[in-house]
Amino acid sequence: MKYSHRYFALPTQEIAERLENHIDIHRQAYNYTRYEYTHIEAENIGSAYKHHDRLTDWKHEFPVFREVHSKALQRTVKRFYQNLSNLKSRKEKGIQVGKLNWKSPREFQSMTYSQSGFELKNTSGRNATLWLSKLGNIQIRYHRKIPDMALIKEVTVKKETTGDWFVSFGLEIDDSEFPEKQDLDSLSTSNSVGIDLGILNYIHTSDGKAVGWLNLENEYSRLRREQQKLSRKRKGSYNYEKQRQKVAKIKRKIRRKVIDYQHKLTTWLVREYDAVFVEDLDVSGMLQSDGNAKNKQDVAWRQFITLLEYKGELYGTYIVQVEARGTTKECASCSVETKKPLWVREHSCPACGFQCDRDANASLNILQRGFTELGLGWPESTPVETALPTDTHSVSAKRVVETGSFKC
Ligand SMILES: [Zn+2]
Repeated sequence: MKYSHRYFALPTQEIAERLENHIDIHRQAYNYTRYEYTHIEAENIGSAYKHHDRLTDWKHEFPVFREVHSKALQRTVKRFYQNLSNLKSRKEKGIQVGKLNWKSPREFQSMTYSQSGFELKNTSGRNATLWLSKLGNIQIRYHRKIPDMALIKEVTVKKETTGDWFVSFGLEIDDSEFPEKQDLDSLSTSNSVGIDLGILNYIHTSDGKAVGWLNLENEYSRLRREQQKLSRKRKGSYNYEKQRQKVAKIKRKIRRKVIDYQHKLTTWLVREYDAVFVEDLDVSGMLQSDGNAKNKQDVAWRQFITLLEYKGELYGTYIVQVEARGTTKECASCSVETKKPLWVREHSCPACGFQCDRDANASLNILQRGFTELGLGWPESTPVETALPTDTHSVSAKRVVETGSFKC
């Protein structure tokens, strides 16, 4: 399984300048790959693998390419071809796409070391050291341990628009290293849970917990204020640039809070239950509706599910995605579908009389579908009759975060 860990980096002034210089050389390599791809007919052009052949010639012709690590240079060539194939697959999905552009310095702010040329050292404390070939040592805030069983495949160094540096490790864990999961037979409604990714509550569990979303009101209103200020500044001016960085910083703070919270929530779920069932989100629909609020929510859920799957592997918990269609409409007790506009918060079944909270009903359906998905059928005692609380108690985000240590 592949995933990544990201850390704040604190390069010295001298290293930061060299990093910028290296990234700019990589940018030129990227642009040159693009140039060759579009302008030159040759056997060794057309895939990253073939294009790597050309790097020896490049280094003769342009000595500047000798200054950076050669594996990293290969990786930049690959980056161009990856972008190209991403573009193609978006196009195949019917999304309007442009051409791959030449990258200006502002659009190209990272580079990746692949396979070699890096070493992570001094990982026992809060700070660790990343050594990069041709660059030197960089201190990073090591707030999250990389598990011993994980292999570091890649290291990406990035300068954010805020001016801050980040290092991201591409990790791989051999699946055979994971803990054994429980026997499927041992799963029951008491150790399994269906969760509804709600709109009002963050998640709603089939055993009656509603875990509220983080309160980010203050951050969002600050963001709106600063964005308004930005809109009044003249584009390209010094003050505009300063304000733009301010806005970027708030956005990043929000993102960090969200991911941090998602880490805590997913760890809680995989520790509490042996099986967690969630709705399968429609990713293709997500890509098409770019930019709207619903889409942003979907992106957050997607990230949540990815994390959940990763934690499930680490803790030996089943994570199963189930068909999302109709989970709200369907009655968890008798399966009859009833239309429900968004503002109707109650489920009240005209066919069997079953009544409960709208999201609770959905989470029960998800639980049910999860069992079916695993080939277990529905457990004998229907939670609708037994385990279902008539009114849900709310678990505050704070409580979830505070019960137990959520280090991961
Ligand atoms: Zn019913």
